Amino acid sequence: MSRKPIIAGNWKMYKTRQEAADLANGLVSRVGTKKDVEVVLCPTYTSLETVAQAIRGSQIRLGAQNCYFEDQGAFTGEISLPMLKEIGVHYVIIGHSERRQFFGETDANINKKAAAIYRHGLTPIICVGEMLEERKANRTADVVTKQVEGCLAGLPADKVAESVIAYEPVWAIGTGVVATKEQAQEAHALIRAVVGKMFSQNVAEAVRIQYGGSVKPNNVTEIMVQPDVDGALVGGASLEADSFAGIVNFG
Ligand code: PEP
Repeated sequence: MSRKPIIAGNWKMYKTRQEAADLANGLVSRVGTKKDVEVVLCPTYTSLETVAQAIRGSQIRLGAQNCYFEDQGAFTGEISLPMLKEIGVHYVIIGHSERRQFFGETDANINKKAAAIYRHGLTPIICVGEMLEERKANRTADVVTKQVEGCLAGLPADKVAESVIAYEPVWAIGTGVVATKEQAQEAHALIRAVVGKMFSQNVAEAVRIQYGGSVKPNNVTEIMVQPDVDGALVGGASLEADSFAGIVNFG
């Protein structure tokens, strides 16, 4: 089965609206017509509409960095799926390690968020990945398996098949230390096997698995050519048009 590569830029808490417009415009001119790779930009909530306007008419898609699972209500500070959908968001990153680490995100609420994302016809980018101490203690497989099982428990197989999972070893995020191609492939193959066990071989073959963690134009190719790597989730190197375009044009 051929899976279309998907490269997403996670802009984290960077870029004012003007800066976001400039970056999005720069990417539209560099990679806006690209069809062999799906390109997704995930700005802050306040820049979503600005970026939606900038990418209109291009092949680039819009993503959000988080969501809440209720549609509306007394949940001060949260943003719902209908609100994101209205702006034109297609993808929603959930369970990013920074949200797990600083905002108490758990596999159980990531699971609820994924169900809500499906209910509204959007697609989650579900992040998993081990911490440095866990890798050093040879616990990577256990940790990642438990995260995938917890995040995907009870979800509909057809929706999981259309989803994106991002394997992001926490020790590689924002550190400049990229996983080796062997480490990435091993974790991706494990994740695909867990999905296969939970759902079916067909679902495992369809789900796209991105690698995230210090991806740059000069290291993206050797990771992307691994058989179970279907894309990249990019933080730091997505904040500048030339470097993100360099990653998108990895081929
Ligand atoms: C990320 O934030 O998801 C990420 C992978 O960051 P970086 O590319 O900066 O390591």
